Amino acid sequence: MRSANFIKPGHIEMRPDASAPAPAAGEVIVAVESCGICGSDLHLYRNNAHKDALVRATPEGYEIPGHEFSGRIYAIGDGVNNWRIGDRVVGVTGQGGGMADYVAVPDNPFQLVAMPDAVSFQEAATTEPLADGLQMVRKAGAANGENVLVFGVGIIGLGVIQAYRATGADIGKLIAVDVHEARLAKALEVGATDTVNARDGDIVEQIQAITGEEVTWRGTSANIHVVIDCAGYIKHMPGPPPLETALRLVACENGRIVCFGAYEDRMLIDMMPLINKQPVIMGSNGYAAEDLVTALELMRNGKVDRKGLISHSFALDDIAEAFSTQDTPEAIKVMIDVRKQVA
Ligand SMILES: [Zn+2]
Repeated sequence: MRSANFIKPGHIEMRPDASAPAPAAGEVIVAVESCGICGSDLHLYRNNAHKDALVRATPEGYEIPGHEFSGRIYAIGDGVNNWRIGDRVVGVTGQGGGMADYVAVPDNPFQLVAMPDAVSFQEAATTEPLADGLQMVRKAGAANGENVLVFGVGIIGLGVIQAYRATGADIGKLIAVDVHEARLAKALEVGATDTVNARDGDIVEQIQAITGEEVTWRGTSANIHVVIDCAGYIKHMPGPPPLETALRLVACENGRIVCFGAYEDRMLIDMMPLINKQPVIMGSNGYAAEDLVTALELMRNGKVDRKGLISHSFALDDIAEAFSTQDTPEAIKVMIDVRKQVA
């Protein structure tokens, strides 16, 4: 079968001769239609980061990334009774393999779900990142006009904004922070009330200009009750890490900070606002099984439009260009359309 093969940072190519997987007991084989390039795949592509969790090795030694995809059931292993050949499904694998003609997926509701007819393969391949957003919104909660801020509005941060809007949470301001204007414009399109470009000066002051400054005996804040950090820490990023800024911004009472963006390195940050303002800092990784179903239902009923977030689409043969494109500020979600023919 054809597959992507990750060779080293900055270097990935298509191979025509990988062994196709056979279904073990409890697994199905999915003939992949669309597979997204995830932010974590980009960390791998740039720095070799978290490689063991992101690629699947073939007997030939090819290392195939891709863990968020859609396709059709192609073969069924022993003990699997829920599926028929040809069923349209979303698959999520713990360890890559999706950027190929075929991939093995364990049959459980956390990794394999049915696609509604009205949802396209491309949209469906963005189910997992939207489910991540649904989990963060559920964990953070927000009500009674509380202000929410999202750091980093790539596909995950945009999904958080969509999740807040689609679930109808009663929130005040929903502010997006990024360094790329195209992404900030997209954030407004999907439901942010305000945007801040981190390059335009002190983020806290820019946000206080929107939400006002809060000063109490516990410290100062920008009246942000929930911070969702989808930026994490990127080596050599200018300015303080977003988590330090989050601690400055977060409200003096009942603040919540959700950390999702990966950390490429250790960070030096001022922790005193954590003591003084007592926000809850929580991590979030992944989703609950029902979030996958909810994400697909929100696409089916039109409450969430994921088509507008797919900025580029490439054939599997053009995998190198697909990755270098995802690594540019213009890209939001780059899709590998495995069955697309090269022009
Ligand atoms: Zn991912």
